[in-house]
Amino acid sequence: MAIVEALEGPDERRRMRVLSPASLEPIGEFECRTPEEVRAAVDRARAAQAGWAAVPVEERAQYLWRLVDRFVQRQDEIIDAVIAETGKARSEAIAMEVYSPCDAIAYYAKHAAEFLAPQARALHGVMRFTKTLRIVYQPLGVVGLITPWNGPIVLSAVPLAQALLAGNAVVHKPSEVTPLSALVLKSFVDDAGLPEDLYQVVQGDGSTGAALIEANVDKVSFTGSVATGRKVAQACAGRLIPYTLELGGKDAMIVCADADLDRAAAGAVIGSCMNTGHYCCGTERVYVVESIYDEFVEKVVEQVRALRQGDHGEFDVGAVFWDSQLEIIEAHVEDARAKGANIRVGGRRNPDLAGLFFEPTVVTEVDHQMDIMTKETFGPIVAIEKVRDEEEAIRLANQSDYGLNGTVWTADTDKGIEIARRIHTGGVCVNDMTITYGIPEAPFGGRKSSGVGQVNGPEGLRGYCHAQPITADKKGRGKIQGGYPYSRKNEDGMQKFIKILFGTRLRRWLS
Ligand code: NAD
Repeated sequence: MAIVEALEGPDERRRMRVLSPASLEPIGEFECRTPEEVRAAVDRARAAQAGWAAVPVEERAQYLWRLVDRFVQRQDEIIDAVIAETGKARSEAIAMEVYSPCDAIAYYAKHAAEFLAPQARALHGVMRFTKTLRIVYQPLGVVGLITPWNGPIVLSAVPLAQALLAGNAVVHKPSEVTPLSALVLKSFVDDAGLPEDLYQVVQGDGSTGAALIEANVDKVSFTGSVATGRKVAQACAGRLIPYTLELGGKDAMIVCADADLDRAAAGAVIGSCMNTGHYCCGTERVYVVESIYDEFVEKVVEQVRALRQGDHGEFDVGAVFWDSQLEIIEAHVEDARAKGANIRVGGRRNPDLAGLFFEPTVVTEVDHQMDIMTKETFGPIVAIEKVRDEEEAIRLANQSDYGLNGTVWTADTDKGIEIARRIHTGGVCVNDMTITYGIPEAPFGGRKSSGVGQVNGPEGLRGYCHAQPITADKKGRGKIQGGYPYSRKNEDGMQKFIKILFGTRLRRWLS
């Protein structure tokens, strides 16, 4: 049962039907935009952007505050749309898709004027006597935003807010698995009074995303899988446009002997099972030192057994959002089972629910010969490996093609930070599940196959701009223009000058 189905239509247009992964009932249909329509959307966005770029940042921020108001007042529309599309738990819809965007948009609306203010930078050397330098942040133009299905609102609204505050227009291609919630976001933006065409949604599948990159956009902000990320990078390289890639992960959790085991076990369970495990920074592998291994595993098993899975009412773990992901989860668990892993809890589809449900699962006796410890599983699985000591845990954590985030659990925060510094990932959290994306001050982005570039924080906001250095004369200085004619006399003078400046103690003072 595919939850996104191609439909036969009366004409050449491609149409798709979306089913709820929880009930398998149809919840909506959409038409894929043609490459011509995508290009026309980008053209309209470019026209709208010209006026928007002239609006002072402080005024742009007022529109974004109004967007926050829409999130607050109309939050049930988001919650309902996201749950219909994904079958995620209501608490997750509220925390991820309402609270988190509100928090991030409010942060950027409050700080945008400060982060995008022209910066005077002091010069070194002899130039300091004659020149000034300021960096101004110019909008790039039209940003192509391409997003995945696991956080349909948060992963769209946060980059959207940054791109708009920086003075750009945005054309957004949401995931074909979750195409409907983007329309709610669009209606919020319109309701907040932002200029027409400044934010447009073009629905469709991968080919629509590819068409967007070719449609004369000035930057691509992409979140999705590693495989698609590579294609996006190649397409952007062909057009010589900048991009950020926020890709998949295989985050490691290191549990030290001195960790608070109750907290660490709870962190492993929420870190692995939150959002049905469809969390790019989800805990995908847990390394536990042998002295506390048995106790830790027992605590995790007990907590996972207590999780309630459901398709309505109050529950903890919802549906798998997409049938293709369910196949990957099943294949990884079967691979582990076949290679000798011990499935302590779950390990199968939930036989009591009609939709796409995989039971919250605990797997032990795992190792790096198994897909479950090396490839992104993206399901509600806690996979736990026993290690001799922290050194072995660090070595195994770094033994990965991915490098998104990770966590360290210890009673000694300083030791946790030291271990974190030795982990080759975009970010690390000590004594918590990965919360980096939810902290807007933090630059966020993966290393190795997990991505290119960083989003969020002041740097992320400025990433939607060109940082233009402007140099000028210092007041009352630099009236003489150097240049031609070249002469032996000037060259000799220059060489003497170099000796004095850099061949004596002067060089330290000047630099
Ligand atoms: P995906 O790569 O299949 O799709 C992402 C988006 O790209 C979709 O909108 C899709 O239609 C579009 N697309 C597909 N082919 C394209 C092409 N050739 N050109 C342009 N666009 C194209 O990813 P997904 O399955 O939707 O998302 C899950 C993945 O996203 C997981 O690997 C997850 O870890 C990752 N993810 C990463 C982050 C992060 O911040 N690092 C956040 C969330 C999800």
